[in-house]
Amino acid sequence: MRTLIIALLIPLTLGAKMPSVDLHNAAKPGLQMPVMGIGTCGYAISPNEKAELWNNSVAEKAVLAWLNLGGRRIDTSLDYLDQPGIGRAIRSQTAVPREEIFITSKVGGGPLGYNETLDQLKTILAQLNTSYVDLLLIHWPLPVWSNSRDPACQHESQARACRQSSWRAMEEIFHSGRALAVGVSNFEMSHLQDIVDMNSLLPAVNQVEYHPYWHEDDLVAYCRDKSIVFNTYSPLGTPDWGPDHRGWNSSILDLPLIRDIACRHAKSPAQVLLRWALEKKLVLNPRSWNEKHMAENLDIFDFELTSDEARQIDDVPKPANPKVCPYPSNK
Ligand code: NAP
Repeated sequence: MRTLIIALLIPLTLGAKMPSVDLHNAAKPGLQMPVMGIGTCGYAISPNEKAELWNNSVAEKAVLAWLNLGGRRIDTSLDYLDQPGIGRAIRSQTAVPREEIFITSKVGGGPLGYNETLDQLKTILAQLNTSYVDLLLIHWPLPVWSNSRDPACQHESQARACRQSSWRAMEEIFHSGRALAVGVSNFEMSHLQDIVDMNSLLPAVNQVEYHPYWHEDDLVAYCRDKSIVFNTYSPLGTPDWGPDHRGWNSSILDLPLIRDIACRHAKSPAQVLLRWALEKKLVLNPRSWNEKHMAENLDIFDFELTSDEARQIDDVPKPANPKVCPYPSNK
């Protein structure tokens, strides 16, 4: 019965291909987003030549392995310093046609602004060696003030105007076809409201941190109400940072509750966390450069959690600092 309910609620296109969700709002009509993608942030994020070489070679190998396993969505950003490696994987290393691959990238980790957004997209397309991305997101709702030439982005008090000016550039990019869909990331309700107030196109996607320690279900409901697809990030709670990093007692993967549920279903703790989010109709992109893990992450469509298990995961006791990434203030 529960399977049937999920099947009715999630507009998944089940077939030989990866299940997908329909994108709405600022998205090409009929565009679908595969529910499972691979994240690529976090190999090494300090901008220096060595880190970039490392990131690009790791990302190239990981993306190739992912495509070979049947994965078709890749999540990257100008900030991840890995796009040339991903570009090599999708352009010269794989036989999978570009049209079958769904690439998300992000602008705005640096200064926001109208021309800044357009300029960053040019760099993204050049690095990925592609004429379009499937989805382009504004990475962060709060402008980094330095170096923005946009008059709307000169002072902290202009955060709303700056978001709106950047969103105008995103709309222009969407209309030009250089992104088949545009959206946002780390936007709280107040930030989304700034876009709603423009009375123009709404984002197709909002990519936000989401795992058992941090799940903003009111934001999920708000996005659903506006037909904005909710894309989770850090769905496993970034276990490689180590629990000590945030003063957690345990990585989420090591919680006895998660391990017990995994055991009951003959699945791994990671698969339980991914399934928990999937059953909430969310799309995911766990990061991995380990082929065994990638295969596991693609194999979460043949079991279901009981409603009791899902509720227990919702209610898992939260540590004092439950979030992996900083909280974007509501300014
Ligand atoms: P995550 O996906 O929660 O965790 C990644 C870690 O989990 C890696 O250490 C990986 O190790 C491990 N892992 C993956 N699959 C596993 C499995 N089946 N079993 C055991 N361990 C597994 O962390 P994240 O990188 O923070 O988030 C995912 C992606 O979301 C990012 O890469 C990025 O694309 C996106 N993101 C976006 C934002 C934003 O601001 N928009 C912020 C953060 C992240 P192995 O390599 O050994 O598998």
